[in-house]
Amino acid sequence: MPARSDRLPLMTVGPGTTRELTVHRFGQPGARPKIYLQAALHADETPGLLVQHHLYGLLEEAERRGAVTGEVILVPYANPIGLAQFTNGENMGRYEQGGGGNFNRNWPDLFDAVAEGLEGRLGDDAEANVALVRRAMVEHLAAEEPGSELHSLRLALSRLACDADVVLDLHCDDQALMHLFLIPAHWPQAADFAADLRCRAVLLAEDSGGSSFDETFSTPWTRLAARYPQHPLPAACLAGTVELRGRSDVDDATAKADAEALFHSLQRFGAVGGNPPPPPAALCEATRLDATDTVRSPAAGVVAYAVELGQEVKKGDVIAWVVDPTQPPEKARHAVTTQASGLVLSQRAQRYVRPGMVLAKVVGKDPLPHRQGAYLLED
Ligand SMILES: [Zn+2]
Repeated sequence: MPARSDRLPLMTVGPGTTRELTVHRFGQPGARPKIYLQAALHADETPGLLVQHHLYGLLEEAERRGAVTGEVILVPYANPIGLAQFTNGENMGRYEQGGGGNFNRNWPDLFDAVAEGLEGRLGDDAEANVALVRRAMVEHLAAEEPGSELHSLRLALSRLACDADVVLDLHCDDQALMHLFLIPAHWPQAADFAADLRCRAVLLAEDSGGSSFDETFSTPWTRLAARYPQHPLPAACLAGTVELRGRSDVDDATAKADAEALFHSLQRFGAVGGNPPPPPAALCEATRLDATDTVRSPAAGVVAYAVELGQEVKKGDVIAWVVDPTQPPEKARHAVTTQASGLVLSQRAQRYVRPGMVLAKVVGKDPLPHRQGAYLLED
């Protein structure tokens, strides 16, 4: 059976203007596990678009063989609003230009939406509890009316993802190595998945503070379990943000290999039949996100990096120099050091910066004092 593709129109912003999502569906609606994948919610993060193209081919072939035993939903581009935003010839896909902010922040709180209504309805059967919670989420989102185009996009994506067993949001960093964001409840459950993707870092946070897309679906379960400790309630949605390296790491060979890794994971999750090869050896341990230092620029100037991606550094090491060319040479260079000891995971491509901009992420193992209680994501 070929894949079924739907087009979901967004709310119209003006006469003569409509946008839509494309959704590819594989397997039987309602089959388990249900896996949801989307690309480029930050619309200018391109690697996921090419990965979804290759994954679509692999899934079509599996569908023809009748091998899709669960349900798989691919949203090949998650953000048609952002994809259409160009300024001076550059795609500006991170923030909604209509004032809606960062496309991957401030997603609605599904815990708040369903928690109260579950009072007195949960029982001793974990599976029945999971089904009840999923139904409550589906019904809550079905009843919500969009008030703007952006809201209609968020609603459409949430409705597709909310009752999935696995939600994978494909992003990328500026210049970076492959990494993954998860909540701690899904580690080491996701260890094979991280190994398949050859992740160089797995960053765990219960609440990163940003209400990102993935956490909208993962954290309600752990919060509901805490609210109703007398009832069995597993963390039933493994939702993660996959950072597919840097925004220029886009080529067929890389995307095909990533799509194959995702396909093997879909087999391991039980959504597609067949035996994947054993996962490659893990390239990292999971670490707490508050142990990763986001090294920020203290001044405006030109960034001259002192380290390379993938380099191991120590606390206090100089990561970069920020150079203010207006100053006399002996005063022009600001040393930027890291508080963490570990791997240099990301850098920025644009080498002119303002104060406060993130110059690098360094993956440490020990929680950092300045990251406690802080907003852990970038803006
Ligand atoms: Zn992103």
